[in-house]
Amino acid sequence: MAILNIVTDGDPVLRKRAAEVEIKELSTPKFKKFLEDMLETMYAANGIGIAAPQVGESVRVFIAESGKGPIALINPVFTKKSWKLLKGEEGCLSVPGKFDKVLRHKSLSVEAFTTNGQHIAFTAEGFFARVLQHEMDHLDGLLYVDRVKEQKK
Ligand SMILES: [Zn+2]
Repeated sequence: MAILNIVTDGDPVLRKRAAEVEIKELSTPKFKKFLEDMLETMYAANGIGIAAPQVGESVRVFIAESGKGPIALINPVFTKKSWKLLKGEEGCLSVPGKFDKVLRHKSLSVEAFTTNGQHIAFTAEGFFARVLQHEMDHLDGLLYVDRVKEQKK
C-alpha cells in the first residue's frame, strides 16, 4: 500500500465533475490497489472521508466513515434528500487547518456500487449523511467552503 498525495484547494482537479467508473474496472489489480491506497491515505491523514479527486483521480469513488467502519462507494447517487437541514462543523483534507459550519440534509437515500460491483441502496442520517454529502460534493467539483460561501449569502 502507498500513501497518496492529497491535493489542496487551488488544484483544478477539485473543481471538476468526476467521471463514472466502469464497473468492469473494479476487478482490476490497479483499481483494487487504488482503493487500498485511498483508505491508507485517509487513515494516515486522520480523515473520516476521502474522495478520489482529492488524490488527483477524477473518478466517482469515495470512502466515508459510516460510524461502523469505512465504506467505499462507486458511482454513488442520492435518490432522496430530506427537506430538513442541519448545520454542523466540517473540515476537509484538501482545505487543511480550517473548519466551518455547513447546512446539509439531515437524511438521505443512497444508491451506489460496492467495490465488488454489487449494487446497493441504503439510507443514512446525521453524521454519516453529512460525510456522504461532503464526499459527493467532491465528485461534483465542489468544496465545503463553496457551500459556506453560498449559504452565507
Ligand atoms: Zn473534503
